[in-house]
Order: sequence, then structure tokens, then C-alpha cells
Amino acid sequence: MSEWNHRHLIDLSHFSLEDYFSVLQLASRFKSLPTTGARKLPALQGRLVTTLFFEPSTRTRSSFELAAKRLSADVQTFSPSSSALKKGETPLDTALTYVSMGSDVLVIRHSCTSVPEQIAQALEKNGKPTSVLNGGDGLHSHPSQGLLDLFTLANYFEPNNPLPSALVNKRIAIVGDILHSRVARSNLWALTGCGADVILCGPPSLLPREFSQFVDAPPPGQSKDPIDIRGKIYLTRSLKNALEGADAVITLRLQKERMQHNLLTDLNRYHRDYGITHQSLNWCEKQIPVLHPGPVNRGVEISSELLDDHSICLIEKQVSNGIPIRMALLYLLTTSKDRLSNSTADALSSP
Ligand code: ASP
Repeated sequence: MSEWNHRHLIDLSHFSLEDYFSVLQLASRFKSLPTTGARKLPALQGRLVTTLFFEPSTRTRSSFELAAKRLSADVQTFSPSSSALKKGETPLDTALTYVSMGSDVLVIRHSCTSVPEQIAQALEKNGKPTSVLNGGDGLHSHPSQGLLDLFTLANYFEPNNPLPSALVNKRIAIVGDILHSRVARSNLWALTGCGADVILCGPPSLLPREFSQFVDAPPPGQSKDPIDIRGKIYLTRSLKNALEGADAVITLRLQKERMQHNLLTDLNRYHRDYGITHQSLNWCEKQIPVLHPGPVNRGVEISSELLDDHSICLIEKQVSNGIPIRMALLYLLTTSKDRLSNSTADALSSP
């Protein structure tokens, strides 16, 4: 496996092709472990993983906790409703409390963009070795979802070799509320990073034109894109255009809780124009898989019948693939921390 040098995982803009390869390769190994009998590996025995979800979650939090337990780590769960947040404690002070208890990895979700990053920076500044893994921040990023979608698609296209190469020259449509979706942003980095082209489709109020340049600028702090096979992004308002020629479609939840203005008034019309259904899939040139990150508004972004048709809709596979992907991320971050601190120790002890 190639070198993994990230202490924290905030977003995927800095990921190289080797990083995608490391995550998918390790996830495949974890996925191939027996699913019955003794399911635990001792890899993270004695480590402590803390989930700090300041915003609700069903899938992501429990999947991280299960992943940590499968690797034999201890797991601590922070619940905002019964915590000192109610007494005015800040997210950073909450995080530092768990760091003082010896947490090795903080998995953080917050409704405000950049809270996980600010906490990671504060830990670096204070010389704390704890890693931060972004479990979803505002509209910005949801890297583990981007990676599990990538893994699900790689498994669909190349079941015997589900690696980044499975995505090269594929055309993936992402449909719906792009504007409010941190999943779409992480998908854009991951899919184009592995050489796929992405067609974004949605009404003008939910798909601003700037998205066509989303991956064009080099990531902050770098002079050039670490990836030279990066795919392209195209925009369309027409679902028919998006689906014709697509190899897969990812449909997104309408994020009503993040809609500040009246961006969408008529849900029936939205379903008619952008809903993914068995009928709309007739525009595709072949049968293609449908992904959805969940939770779902049944009958809005996807029809109930299609959601329950598991020969086409991969939502169950996405959920189960989330576990090996998160095992891989926890493992890589924890072991890189050892490597990074060993090299710091070496540097300090060398004359
Ligand atoms: N569960 C995903 C997220 O946290 C998608 C969604 O909420 O629509 O971003």
C-alpha cells in the first residue's frame, strides 16, 4: 500500500490517486472478512474513537461506531441534547474535553461549515496528536460518504477489482439539490479524481452555474491539482440530457432544513421534472444503478417503487459499504498518526 500522509480528513480536495487507491484497497480487504462468527480485528485495540455529532445522523454515526468496534477500538458517543452544550460550552471546548480523555480520533459533524477544520487546526496548534475526521460539515464536505459512493460504484463496475481505475471514463449523473449538498461536493472531488466525468442536473435555484468550475482551482495551499487524470463537470437543467449516456445516477435529498429562501415551492413539479423513477430511467441507453445517500424523501427525489427495487437502487449496498470504508479511514488515520509522530520523534532525537 502506498504512503498515507494525512493526520486529519476534512475534505477530498487534497486527495491523490494513491490516496483513493489506499482507501478502496483496504476497504475491499475489510469487506471480504467473514460476516458471521468472530467479526472483530484487533487492529485498533486500546485506541479510543469519539463521535461528536452536533447535527443529527442515523447512518454516518452508527456506521463509524460499528467500524471502530469491528477494529476493537473503544468508542465514546457524545450526545448534544444531554451535554454541557446546553450550558453554553463551545464545540472546541467539547472536543478538547474528549482529547483530554485520550481520544485518538474525533469524528465530528456540525451544521456549520469548517467546524471540524477549526478543531483540527486548534489541535495542531496545541501539539495534540488526535485526528479529526469530518463526519459532515454544513454544505462543505462529507468525505466518508464521497468515498463510500465511490466504493459502491467501483464494486458495481468492477466487482472483482473495485479500485479507482473502475471509474475511468465513466459518466456519472448527480441530480437534485446540488446547492445544499455536501455529499455532491465530496462526490465531485472523488469521482472526477478517479477519472469519471460528472453531469450535474437540477433546477437553476438548486444548481448555480459556478459548479461547472468546482474542481478547476488547485486545492488551498497547493500550486497544482494532485490528480492529472481528473474528469470534467457538465451542467444541465434537463433530466433527459443527464440520463442519456450516463453509467450511473446519484440522486440527492432536497435539504429543506438548509433552504433559507423559498427556493422550491412545488414538490409535485419537482418530482415530475427531476424525480428518478422507473419511467425516467427509460431515457438511459442501458440499465444503470441508482444511488442515494439517505435519508430519502420518498416520492420527491426518487419514487418509492424505485427506492424499493434493489435490482436497480443500491442504497442498501451504500449503507453496508460504509462500514469497510470507515474501517479503512479509521485505520489509516490512526496508523498515520503513529508514523507521523515517529518521524517527529526521530527528527527531535537526531543531532
Ligand atoms: N446524510 C447526508 C448528509 O449528512 C445526506 C443528507 O442528509 O441528505 O449530508
